[in-house]
Amino acid sequence: MRRLSQLARIPVTELHGVGPKKADGLASLGIVTVADLLMHYPRRYLDRTNQARIADLALGEEGMVLATVRRVQSRRTRNRRSLVEVDVGDGSAYLRCTFFNQAWRASQLSTGTNAVFFGRLEQFQGRRRMTNPVVDLVGDRTGRIVPVYPQSEKAGLTTWELGGWIEGALERAGPFLDPVPAEVRRRFGLVERSAAIRGIHLPETADDHRSARTRLVFDELLRIQLVLVRRKRELEQAAVGVAHHLDGVLVRRFHERLPFGLTTAQQRAIAEIGHDLAGPVPMHRLLQGDVGSGKTLVALSALLVAVQGGHQGAFMAPTEVLAEQHHLGIRRLVEGLTLAAEGDNLFGERPVRVELVTSRTPAAERARVAAALAGGDVDLAVGTHALIQEQVAFRSLGAVVIDEQHRFGVEQRAALRGKGTAVPDVLVMTATPIPRTAAMTVYGDLDVSVLDELPPGRTPVTTRWARTEAQEGEAWAGVRAEVAAGHQAFVVCPLIEESEAIEARSAEETLHRLGQGELAGLRLGLLHGRIGVRDKDVAMEAFRAGDVDVLVATTVIEVGVDVPNATVMVVVDADRFGLAQLHQLRGRVGRGRAVSWCHLLAPAEGLTPEAQARLEALERTSDGFELAEVDLDLRGEGTLMGAQQKGRSDLRLASLRRDEVWVGRAREVAFTLVDGPGGLDAHPELAQEVELLLGPDDAGPSGDRTEYLFKS
Ligand code: ADP
Ligand code: MG
Repeated sequence: MRRLSQLARIPVTELHGVGPKKADGLASLGIVTVADLLMHYPRRYLDRTNQARIADLALGEEGMVLATVRRVQSRRTRNRRSLVEVDVGDGSAYLRCTFFNQAWRASQLSTGTNAVFFGRLEQFQGRRRMTNPVVDLVGDRTGRIVPVYPQSEKAGLTTWELGGWIEGALERAGPFLDPVPAEVRRRFGLVERSAAIRGIHLPETADDHRSARTRLVFDELLRIQLVLVRRKRELEQAAVGVAHHLDGVLVRRFHERLPFGLTTAQQRAIAEIGHDLAGPVPMHRLLQGDVGSGKTLVALSALLVAVQGGHQGAFMAPTEVLAEQHHLGIRRLVEGLTLAAEGDNLFGERPVRVELVTSRTPAAERARVAAALAGGDVDLAVGTHALIQEQVAFRSLGAVVIDEQHRFGVEQRAALRGKGTAVPDVLVMTATPIPRTAAMTVYGDLDVSVLDELPPGRTPVTTRWARTEAQEGEAWAGVRAEVAAGHQAFVVCPLIEESEAIEARSAEETLHRLGQGELAGLRLGLLHGRIGVRDKDVAMEAFRAGDVDVLVATTVIEVGVDVPNATVMVVVDADRFGLAQLHQLRGRVGRGRAVSWCHLLAPAEGLTPEAQARLEALERTSDGFELAEVDLDLRGEGTLMGAQQKGRSDLRLASLRRDEVWVGRAREVAFTLVDGPGGLDAHPELAQEVELLLGPDDAGPSGDRTEYLFKS
């Protein structure tokens, strides 16, 4: 029985017909070993039963013919475009294939070449014709279903050469050892590995192909899940956590003092988190929920559990601005909240102490806070990665909340875990609602809690994409009308990634321009990342108090800004923002009872199709999960995984969306194997594949693949 991992050590040059030159071509496709070659799957298949004779093709319809090239002519059209005309015949009739701007077709399709042509039959000057048909060189391959391999032309290889080598490799390899336990295969009706590898390259029927694909999809997902699950277990076992007490008075007071009741989803999440907090194993949980679903409150509850037991809590945000916003928000939420003071205090109570630590914090201030953290005089620290720098020590860090995991690397998380003597409980919040199965893969080493409910009393926001100047005018008129009705507005300035300074300047310009023009006569306020913390506070307070009609701001208002009287938002140059970010921004309005609006300004002309699709999606729905799906479609799953697109990739066949059920199954099996007797080591062939294909020991281009998985 052949092991796939063995083939990962055999170079392709061992195969008959692969010399140094061909090997170079293969290497450019990321194919170095025989295993790589066998995992280079067909892009599609030609089903020869669909093949027609040229004479039988119907005018105006698509069809596929196998024909031989009879004559090739290259020339230039009057407007200098290259034109290749290829006359082909199959014995029943002739067909002219015309290719525009594909000059290389002349050398690809030399006289006598056999190829399959797929296209729509036209008639031109009395002749049968196809314009820019799809061409597949099939050589003399026989069989009903012929695989077509991706990218072969670019590498100077033909699809039949690849097919031939793969067939040769399969023959030489013989049957494959199947590393997946037989009972798992039986349970899910998976075919054996030998059948799968053969079936993906040389299917005899459509069924063959389907079952081969399913099996290989399962293998891909299983390898990823094994890495994630093993990692999860290692983290859990290596570490001693804090068994927090849930029944303290602080959290109860905190909840009682809220002006509203918790949603059912919040209660459920708090209970799930509480269960982890109380246990001795360090928590490692993802809190997922749409914008405005009340994650901050849930996260803060978790931190306060730590605080009421005499530990400290840390809240980490991905940027300084977001940290400052969260700091303000958290301060407000714990204002007036007291807990029992240690030692002999006459009144026995003291307020909860919150501090901010970012790299912008002045050195002296930072030293003071650091000392307070080390001495236990601070209960909650809010900050950026500065929080986990070596100098910052906690007296007893009990729980950590990380906002937006995807911008935090695994090392940072590890550093945080190393902060205290016991490993703190970690809660990761994501405002990007990732479909659950995708979350299981990207955040596969975390447990998941979902807030799938918004607090009551929200009114849906009507979103309009202003495509033209006239519509833009209507948007500004909308702002004026809302202000006239006693409401308030946000204007979000163009996102400028290059520099916060340029962004700030642009915000000032926007303010100036609007004050002179569209919003003349209204009371405008300004908020951007370059404004000092105190001034920011002042600006926000003025807006909250209603002393400012329109707050012109950068994305600093992404979180923590909660002004129910704000009923309209205008986003300038909305096409520059990502879908998730626009959705997050839009969450700043629609917080009160009044009908709310969001206007996205972006001239339709010149927009990429992706940008248009983003804006259209936002107009269509306010469901964060639906938008996340759209985002995934537009950006591709590769970006979600953070995987390289070229060469080897973690997911070749599997789609996190289409193969959703298999993600869950693979995860379940991964748990069974890792937790079973002997762990993954009891399945050495699987363990080896994980190392070879995903592991850090691999010297190949996928070297830091696992890091990618976690960093995403
Ligand atoms: P997220 O972080 O999930 O986007 P936030 O935690 O910022 O959401 O909450 C959004 C707003 O909803 C905040 O003003 C918060 O005070 C409020 N809120 C949270 N939970 C509730 C609730 N159960 N009922 C009413 N309002 C709530
Ligand atoms: Mg615990």
